[in-house]
Amino acid sequence: MTEDILLIPGPVTISNKVQRALGTASISHTSPEFAAIFARVLKNTRLVFKGGETSQPLILAGSGTLGWDVAASNLVEAGEKVLVLSTGYFSDSFAECLQAYGAHVDKVRASLGDVVPLSEVCEALQGTKYKMVTITHVDTSTGVLSDVKSICEVVKKVSPETLIVVDGVCSVGCEKLEFEAWGIDYALSASQKALGAPPGLSVSLLSERAVKEALTRKAPSCFFASLKKWIPVMRNYDNGKACYFATPPVQLVNALDASLTEILDYGLDARVAKHWTTSDWFKNRITEDLGLELVTNSAEDSAHGLTAIYVNNPAEIIAALKKSGIVIAGGLHADIKNQYIRVGHMGAVACEPSLQHLQSCFEALKAFAGGMQA
Ligand SMILES: *Cc1c(COP(=O)(O)O)cnc(C)c1O
Repeated sequence: MTEDILLIPGPVTISNKVQRALGTASISHTSPEFAAIFARVLKNTRLVFKGGETSQPLILAGSGTLGWDVAASNLVEAGEKVLVLSTGYFSDSFAECLQAYGAHVDKVRASLGDVVPLSEVCEALQGTKYKMVTITHVDTSTGVLSDVKSICEVVKKVSPETLIVVDGVCSVGCEKLEFEAWGIDYALSASQKALGAPPGLSVSLLSERAVKEALTRKAPSCFFASLKKWIPVMRNYDNGKACYFATPPVQLVNALDASLTEILDYGLDARVAKHWTTSDWFKNRITEDLGLELVTNSAEDSAHGLTAIYVNNPAEIIAALKKSGIVIAGGLHADIKNQYIRVGHMGAVACEPSLQHLQSCFEALKAFAGGMQA
């Protein structure tokens, strides 16, 4: 069987090493062998997020969405105010999750394809006391890349008590992110995007301040996502000791171990830089060679793990590429849903020296050039 080339913004193509790590026999989740693997995964998670010694990694069975529930049910209480900086579909879904647990959500909305202006963030924080602000580092619906560093600086200056939560599902591993240096309180990601592992794990990091907040509040309005339950478990595994609250998916943790090791062996900064060059190459081919327009309005605010492209016949293009064995994604943003396509280039395909998979995608798209302009 020949496999399709998977170029969607998650799940991403996984390396052979990661795939082999997934196919191992089950081992006991309380064995010393598993405890050693989990300890390494936690340590490497801290490195990939650039967290400090006191930050607490959290690896849970679940998808990226679970990180929203963790934040919404452990770091805010019903009635407390959260400021959501919205750059698209995923920012809005995070807001919906916060509301489901009773948070009072105010939104500052960017115009389509743009980031939220810093002046608007500043103004919102000056006018109201927020318990938390949420930033979607890369909104995968639009490919907009937010300037997390500058937003953190504004929050620290105007409202230092406000907890900073970053949705890094489409950024950790392919964008610059400095958890400790920028003063982030909770950053959440998922195994199947730039971390290069299969879907099934929520991978996140808490600051010391966020841990304190979670442990000293009243019982959270959730059970599986309770940090009061999970923090002691993670602290034990961090010290190489097994501990039980709910069974971890041992093979998935093993696969994440393999992918984090690959990332760190490549070098995190080198890998981020490689994603940037790959992204620049692909975006230039799309705009210069094919004359197509991107959903993002400026190169500076464009993500490096995916490209969102306006076309006039997305369904046709997606179907035609699928026929030649290339899988890309359609639109997600409600305002332009049937007007664009999304090509993911995270992980293994972005790090190939020859970029052969992306090259094939470009060639296939080129075959449609002319009929594609929106
Ligand atoms: C994919 C994605 C999510 C949701 O992750 P799931 O693993 O599908 O639950 C959340 N936020 C962003 C920015 C994403 O790209």
